[in-house]
Amino acid sequence: MALTHIVLLGPPGAGKGTQAKQIIEKLGVVHLSTGDILRDEVGRETELGTTAKGFMDRGELVPDQLIIDMIRGRIEAASSGFLLDGFPRTTAQAEALSQFATIDVVLNITLHRDEVVRRLTGRRVCRSCGKIYNLTFNLKEGQTACEACGGELYQRDDDKTDVIENRYDVYETSTAPLIEYYTKQNVLRTLDGSLGSERVFAEIIDILTA
Ligand code: AMP
Repeated sequence: MALTHIVLLGPPGAGKGTQAKQIIEKLGVVHLSTGDILRDEVGRETELGTTAKGFMDRGELVPDQLIIDMIRGRIEAASSGFLLDGFPRTTAQAEALSQFATIDVVLNITLHRDEVVRRLTGRRVCRSCGKIYNLTFNLKEGQTACEACGGELYQRDDDKTDVIENRYDVYETSTAPLIEYYTKQNVLRTLDGSLGSERVFAEIIDILTA
């Protein structure tokens, strides 16, 4: 029986989004990315999006209560299981989550700061289907369109060097304490994000289906 209440943890750029897309295809759980949901809210210029945009542009965290209110209903509705990507990001969010859901496993993908900066400056995302590309791995010289759907590839506003540094600092201060939090609960499994996405994915599937 596969584990279906899953959290992806790790610094920005560790490969959470890339792994998430493959995991949901394999396991049929719902992908809940708070970053994607927020970017959609920003794009639609909703009240939440307008409030969140300033925090996101600076690489800061959106206040806990706004995030919890945004995600709670979606988690409770995911009857076939969920993969949380980018949530929880603070101990307060993890404690709130524990009030309305149980977590089977936390996949902690590690990546060194220098490699985070290198990957994120080279990251491009498809505006239509969300497929993630990288100048150092899978983006061909001069390529501007998504191979999967033909959509336009763009660079996220927060993937610029100064914002990236801030996002890593925020990760170390606010999110890294969750490693200890989930270790104490005996649900943390750590993967080396520098090994490349195929190897990391194989290890994740071993963990989830063991
Ligand atoms: P991500 O796509 O996960 O890198 O998230 C992009 C940005 O959205 C972050 O830098 C934060 O500003 C905001 N964000 C996403 N998830 C959360 C969260 N769980 N708590 C607070 N802010 C978040």
